[in-house]
Amino acid sequence: MGFDTMIVNGRVVTATDTYASDIAVSNGKIEAIGNNLPRDNAKKIIDAANRYVLPGGIDVHTHLDMPFGGTTSADDFETGTRAAAFGGTTTLIDFAIQYRGQTLRTAFDTWMQKASGRAVSDYAFHCIITDLGAAQLEEMNALVREGVTSFKLFMAYPGVFMLDDASIFRAFRATAKNGGLVCMHAENGNAIDVIVQQALAEGKKAPKYHALTRPTTAEAEATSRAIALAEMAGAPVYIVHMSCNDALEKVREARDRGLPVYAETCPQYLYLSLENMDAPGFEGAKYVFTPPLREKWHQEKLWNGLKQDHLQVVSTDHCPFCFKEQKELGKDDFTKIPNGGPGIEHRMSLIYSGGVAKGRFTVNRFVELVSTTPAKLFGLYPRKGTIAIGSDADLVIFDPKRKHTISVKTHHMRVDYSMFEGIEVTGMPDVVLSRGQVLVEGNQFRGRVGAGEFIRRATYTQQ
Ligand SMILES: [Zn+2]
Repeated sequence: MGFDTMIVNGRVVTATDTYASDIAVSNGKIEAIGNNLPRDNAKKIIDAANRYVLPGGIDVHTHLDMPFGGTTSADDFETGTRAAAFGGTTTLIDFAIQYRGQTLRTAFDTWMQKASGRAVSDYAFHCIITDLGAAQLEEMNALVREGVTSFKLFMAYPGVFMLDDASIFRAFRATAKNGGLVCMHAENGNAIDVIVQQALAEGKKAPKYHALTRPTTAEAEATSRAIALAEMAGAPVYIVHMSCNDALEKVREARDRGLPVYAETCPQYLYLSLENMDAPGFEGAKYVFTPPLREKWHQEKLWNGLKQDHLQVVSTDHCPFCFKEQKELGKDDFTKIPNGGPGIEHRMSLIYSGGVAKGRFTVNRFVELVSTTPAKLFGLYPRKGTIAIGSDADLVIFDPKRKHTISVKTHHMRVDYSMFEGIEVTGMPDVVLSRGQVLVEGNQFRGRVGAGEFIRRATYTQQ
């Protein structure tokens, strides 16, 4: 009797420790960690010399196979999870959308159908609520019991996704009782709409006006309001895709007061800026997502927020639309450009490169931001998000020295451009395992379509 797989000679990295050790895997779980484990009879041995062994990345913000603006995001659960695997991400939390008049159950069932049989690695769902009556408030409790323990609400997109403050407050009161966590898209959608209408009336229709009509103050105001509503309800709140220092300051103040307030940012806000919107012709449309890109000085504030724990998570908000035919829907009017950008594949390398290789924070903090804290906040820990006996063997053998230049020519996402084209990163995954099965080895995909499972998540616990 031997282990199914052994990973030998690597340096194991968790959110707290870095140490040399072998890891033994059986039945998809980590069975042993140590330096004198018997290697005889192991069915497979992977040599991780000179490399790190990290817990698989967890991306808690993706939109695969999502209808938006008359089209559908270009990656489905098969291509999206495969691209994620190439980048070292082995678990996704995607969003099941409740449209007006629907039950939350319909949303959950619809997205389960999209994912099951297709995803190559494990997945879970947040439920987006766009219509919150008494029946849906009841349904929130039922979903929490079934392992859908977080909900996304919008303070933007009036008439489509936006909820009013009363509904938001009711949702917070429900999660305060049922152990759910509200994820908030924090932008003042009503004010933004006034600015957008004025821009259109003045004939300002190019892509860059997407960014210029969504001020940082609108994000900061909504962040502050979300925190206040959560505080009144006695509930935690998680602010998604934070893009600017103004909003970050609101989160920092709330956390200084001891409130259970959390926020994520995404690689695009750390690497790109308003300057990208000035790309020639219609090219700026490649960077049309919400919240928009900001002035460059915000980047360093966000990096510092990650270092200081004012920001706790890096996700991608992966929502790819091809430049040809999809982004082009908004050729004559920026409000018709499908909102979203592709990023699921490069999160780990971009954050390792800019964070650890550039000396901004430690490799342990990196693991915490891309895997451990996402797992803890969203009820996946300790099954996911760490390297420990009994945890799922979602593992990444990561070469901290290997350099790679990001390009549409080599990426695995099903989209015809890269937001990060030409950026050189230091640090790349070499081998990626999901529940003990090799998903990616070098440039080869070795996983199986449909191998991913839906993961029921535990309720929120304060971090
Ligand atoms: Zn999103």
